[in-house]
Amino acid sequence: MKHANISIFIPHIGCPHRCSFCDQRTISGAQRIPHGEDIKEICEKAFAEIKSPENTEIAFFGGSFTAIPQAYMLELLEAAYPFVGNDKFKGIRISTRPDCIDRDVLTLLKKYGVTAIELGAQSMSDKVLEANERGHSSADVENAAILIREYGFELGLQMMVGLYKSDMADEFETLDKIAAIRPDTVRIYPVVILKCTRLGDLYQSGEYNTFSFEDVTEFVADAMLRFADKGIKVIKCGLHASEFVEKDMVGGFYHPAFREICESHIYRRKIAETVGCKDGNNLVVAVNPTCISKAMGHKKSNCEYFKEQGINIKIIGNVDIPKYEIKISEVRR
Ligand code: SF4
Repeated sequence: MKHANISIFIPHIGCPHRCSFCDQRTISGAQRIPHGEDIKEICEKAFAEIKSPENTEIAFFGGSFTAIPQAYMLELLEAAYPFVGNDKFKGIRISTRPDCIDRDVLTLLKKYGVTAIELGAQSMSDKVLEANERGHSSADVENAAILIREYGFELGLQMMVGLYKSDMADEFETLDKIAAIRPDTVRIYPVVILKCTRLGDLYQSGEYNTFSFEDVTEFVADAMLRFADKGIKVIKCGLHASEFVEKDMVGGFYHPAFREICESHIYRRKIAETVGCKDGNNLVVAVNPTCISKAMGHKKSNCEYFKEQGINIKIIGNVDIPKYEIKISEVRR
């Protein structure tokens, strides 16, 4: 059964940081702050509507949950906790900063039914973290990950691709270190440059430019393959469409089909490797049935790509083939 989240946005009240990519004004100013009664109402409504609560988590997203004032954090947890347990929702997810994790806070989260913790790592290059004013180091991510595991929580890591001062070596360093931590889940966010942020100013002054769309999607394809090989689930790739992103974005990478484009690259590479070993120019490529459109490519771009090289490919589904694998099931001249 598919996993679902009841997403509740918690603005990061009074965040002392000023990360280069974050528009605090938008995050903290435009959103209404939910209170215990709101959480109760949201959970009651969701419980009445959702058919499989055992596969559903209450998810506090948006800010750094463990950095909000503790009285407010407790108000939220106390309101959500009665909806968690046997015959109720599976648990509670939260997202937070790596330097806002310690034993006391983990004990508290455990007591209130939190099951999964996602850390905004963003980069594992200290140079990049510093240039983007994150206020924590890569060691903070590694230490927090160890503690989270020790307390038995599901661990998620979020990474951002294309930040200020980041080159491809930094991106691969981040990928290597995150894969080595082996979180249960990752979210990959290609950078979105918003106006009213330091990144926006740097970008508009010409001081900062990021990768090309092609380079970013190729890198993310590498990352997705690496995570899949390690059994790490990529639960998000690219930002959701949102009014504030579309209104305030001045650069970076936002595409409604970002994940599909990256996964298309994976299939294009795999097919290209095989094409080199075959003599036929009419290939039937079998893939997992859930991946047929990814193998064909966004708007059939992979089919077109090979056609330009004189190779016709036909994609078919085969349940025995794992995700991201292919099998040439027929070669005709
Ligand atoms: S991204 Fe940075 S500045 Fe924005 S809320 Fe999180 S910690 Fe604060």
